[in-house]
Amino acid sequence: MSFFSEKVVIVTGSSNGIGRGTAVLFAKEGAKVTITGRNAETLRETKQQCLQAGAREENILEILGDVTDESFAAKLVTATVEKFGKLDVLVNNAGGSSFANIGKGILDIPIAEFDQMMDLNVKQVLRISQLAVPHLEKTKGAIVNVSSIAARHNLLPFPYYGAAKSAPDQITIQMAGSLIKNGIRVNSVNPGPVLTNGVVAAGATKEEQDKMFEGAGQIMPLGRVGVPEDIGKIILFLANRSQSEILIGHIVTADGGIMIKSAMFPDS
Ligand code: NDP
Repeated sequence: MSFFSEKVVIVTGSSNGIGRGTAVLFAKEGAKVTITGRNAETLRETKQQCLQAGAREENILEILGDVTDESFAAKLVTATVEKFGKLDVLVNNAGGSSFANIGKGILDIPIAEFDQMMDLNVKQVLRISQLAVPHLEKTKGAIVNVSSIAARHNLLPFPYYGAAKSAPDQITIQMAGSLIKNGIRVNSVNPGPVLTNGVVAAGATKEEQDKMFEGAGQIMPLGRVGVPEDIGKIILFLANRSQSEILIGHIVTADGGIMIKSAMFPDS
């Protein structure tokens, strides 16, 4: 029997991309999954894919809402526990960048965008985690955060996104240190380029997004950019105590080797 059979999992930002790929993998493993996002149509598509992966209709809970809305965290956690009776895993995946000021330096971008990046990539992670912890304590569960290699490297032309994504690294370490005392494991996966619609969601055109991924594909030591399932598999590994119990506050760089390339001799 799968480790995740009958386990209850929340995956934020699962109406698309990495979150969708992750939700489908959990569903395939027999988990009961709460899926979330703002777009009803794409959320329904995630549900369809979970059902195709073998989930039973009653084991997928759809919750529509904006993660940056302060009341959303309570709705998400309460509805999940009311429906499924417990919570075993929280995946803080929702997030994103902004294309509005691409190419500008960090001091040339309005502070309002910094607030937006912090609301979307940081504050909601803390809010949802705070409410999930009492339930995760009971199940000796796990939290997996999804950050980015942009947290530590000047790789992308989105300075505030990078600054915002650096916070979850420290949040992962802080949460891991305090929550392991109550039996909850916290880890993070920091992806490199992953083929999703995230660049368009940030405000770019489809052509700009294709160009970014094409460029990334050409410099990836692996020879291809990531796909959502690549990251989903790592998330399931980190959430699976039977496989990764020894990892506490660990940050997995999942980037196809892009960060080990020499900046001075990229072809070496
Ligand atoms: P996508 O744009 O494909 O998916 C983002 C998901 O988050 C969607 O389900 C979207 O739902 C949801 N979301 C975004 N904003 C909100 C909001 N305000 N309220 C509720 N839900 C929201 O992005 P990715 O899958 O690419 O990104 C997932 C995570 O991975 C993010 O944290 C991102 O920063 C990180 N990441 C991605 C990389 C990549 O190359 N793709 C690289 C490194 C990190 P909806 O549209 O329905 O609102």
